[in-house]
Amino acid sequence: MNGSEAKERIDALKQELEQYNYEYHTLDQPSVSDYEYDKKMRELIDLEEEFPEHQTPDSPSQRVGGAPLEAFEKVQHIIPMLSLGNAFDDQELRDFDRRVRNGTNEDVNYVCELKIDGLAVSLRYEDGLFVRGATRGDGTTGEDITKNLKTIRNIPLRLKKPETLEVRGEAYMPKRSFMALNEAREANEDEPFANPRNAAAGSLRQLDPKIAAKRNLDIFLYGVGQWEDDPADSHSERLEKLKELGLKTNPEWKKCNNIDEVIDYVHSWVERRADLDYEIDGIVIKVDRLDQQETLGFTAKSPRWATAYKFPAEEAVTHLRDIELSV
Ligand code: NAD
Repeated sequence: MNGSEAKERIDALKQELEQYNYEYHTLDQPSVSDYEYDKKMRELIDLEEEFPEHQTPDSPSQRVGGAPLEAFEKVQHIIPMLSLGNAFDDQELRDFDRRVRNGTNEDVNYVCELKIDGLAVSLRYEDGLFVRGATRGDGTTGEDITKNLKTIRNIPLRLKKPETLEVRGEAYMPKRSFMALNEAREANEDEPFANPRNAAAGSLRQLDPKIAAKRNLDIFLYGVGQWEDDPADSHSERLEKLKELGLKTNPEWKKCNNIDEVIDYVHSWVERRADLDYEIDGIVIKVDRLDQQETLGFTAKSPRWATAYKFPAEEAVTHLRDIELSV
């Protein structure tokens, strides 16, 4: 491919991905699968790497999420809420590990967590009191959805200690609630939601909190934006501390001593994920020590100390299972 052909393809991909982002992040109504989206994004990133003269700061490869809805008050994130880099196979996980070890010049431990397929939110507590909840939005500016978040029973309105912190997590709709909601919508001749992720996002971005209250949403907290007097030296310690404060963390996380253990953990969830009562679309792998995270830092779009292993599309797993059963 020559330079002008590359530019033409890059422009076409940018336009297509912007449209998908708008449908997914702003309208909560995707028209293509995540797999298809991820494939096109990867093609764009590869082309931009090969032809850096055609990479622009407004490219979807450089941006997080979508624009916040006008109807909500805006919240400026003091620490940006970023996206995550992706790995699609074992080799890409090993490449991530190599980059991390080159960047720190040390051995590293990782924490693996389930990648909950919901809506990223930030909760601010002041002296232990829940004062504000926001969406990620475009990473810098989110939507104030405090009233809707207050309808989620697992979000404590007061922590067990008078801490001041901004904690981050994923609000989601359990599979059972999603099925019941869509059945009711179909009976009512309303358009069903495409998946639990879009149903959760659509519910939390309603102006009337009574609607969110009826949708049986839940939450897992997995990280910290800011913490006055942060008591932890590692991510795993932070997860323990969040739990002690009464915040709901996911119990399935695991500390791994090396990338082989990470890969075993990832593989163990490919099929087991069907047994969960909520959807996950991958595994998030994070460098455990906070000082090492700091050394590695961030790109414009994501931390260098974490990545998301994305599961193959559900149909591909089912197909593999069918093949295994038939031999
Ligand atoms: P992402 O979903 O790949 O990863 C980042 C997000 O993971 C975080 O913001 C957080 O919300 C979430 N997350 C869940 N569990 C987590 C955990 N334990 N620790 C940390 N983070 C956790 O990236 P993104 O920027 O939110 O969205 C991009 C993805 O969304 C695409 O890769 C694609 O799968 C999907 N998408 C699909 C379409 C479509 O049209 N189908 C369009 C746009 C985006």
